[in-house]
Amino acid sequence: MAANAQGVAEAPFVWHPATAAEAWQLKQTLGTEGVYTAGGTLLRTQWEAGLAAMPNHLINVGEIEELHGIHIDCESGTGTLGAMITLSDLRTSPLVHASFPLLTEAARSIAAPSIRNLATIGGNVLSLVGDSLPALLIYDPVLHWHDGSNGLQESLSEWLSTAAVHAAWRERLLIAIELTQPALDSNTKRFVAYHKVGRRDAFTPSVVTAALSVQLDSDNRLSDVRLALGGGQTIPHRLELVEQFLTGKIANKKTITEVYALVVEHYEPKGDAFVPVSYRKKAAANLIASELWKAVR
Ligand SMILES: Cc1cc2nc3c(=O)[nH]c(=O)nc-3n(C[C@H](O)[C@H](O)[C@H](O)COP(=O)(O)OP(=O)(O)OC[C@H]3O[C@@H](n4cnc5c(N)ncnc54)[C@H](O)[C@@H]3O)c2cc1C
Repeated sequence: MAANAQGVAEAPFVWHPATAAEAWQLKQTLGTEGVYTAGGTLLRTQWEAGLAAMPNHLINVGEIEELHGIHIDCESGTGTLGAMITLSDLRTSPLVHASFPLLTEAARSIAAPSIRNLATIGGNVLSLVGDSLPALLIYDPVLHWHDGSNGLQESLSEWLSTAAVHAAWRERLLIAIELTQPALDSNTKRFVAYHKVGRRDAFTPSVVTAALSVQLDSDNRLSDVRLALGGGQTIPHRLELVEQFLTGKIANKKTITEVYALVVEHYEPKGDAFVPVSYRKKAAANLIASELWKAVR
């Protein structure tokens, strides 16, 4: 942060661009001196914890029209969430609940209402570890960015797989997240679940966050299995190996016992001083096994 002639730290200058192009141009001009800010809830915790320095310039993206709005087409089962949609908007939208119910659950599990009124879905995604990510990953999400050209589209899974090591995306402005509901085959039913396990019931960091979507026929045969895990500092991802294992299997005691072992073996969360890797693995396996039991019942 800049200091004045008396050596007293000055608050950052806040820019209020009206368009995505203007915001992007500001970022190009300011470079690392300028940081995009949405709700500012995550940035503030990073500054307070000394994890990031407060920059000299903040680029407030909240006044850019195209970053707002929830657009859902119930017939095609597709939807777009503007990056500036708050977690409170997500939690209370009947349209989101009808088409993408896991997002309603995810929003409910994040922070407290006063934070959710400011915190945005864009900021949650770009934290790389936000609790909305496992839920979003179930809906084939595509990120729409402004990158100074005609716009860039990229699958959320792809972006997550490289974002921690390639920081070039920090130049771009996230505009929206596009989602698609899983289709339902005839004579099947769909079971979905989102579960965040913390060290207490509410207002808690996640130990494990799981999202699950499966299709079952009348024999409880599984198809279109989608399974995403995150929690703590683990970057959320789909568990493709476990999805493949479950596809075509009858959901019964044997399958669920096998899937428990598979998750413990293949899920690789990050541990920390409070919650070691082995605990997170077991918690994840327990969550998935118990949700599969619920699906069968
Ligand atoms: C008390 C407290 C509890 C919390 N609990 C949880 C929790 O349980 N689960 C959880 O997941 N999170 C939690 N958070 C973290 C945070 O509130 C959320 O991740 C929130 O969704 C971040 O959104 P924001 O709009 O405030 O992001 P900001 O702080 O504004 O930005 C976050 C990052 O995204 C970038 N950014 C934001 N918007 C854009 C954009 N459109 N384009 C490009 N870059 C952009 C910023 O530069 C910054 O790097 C908590 C925070 C607090 C303070």
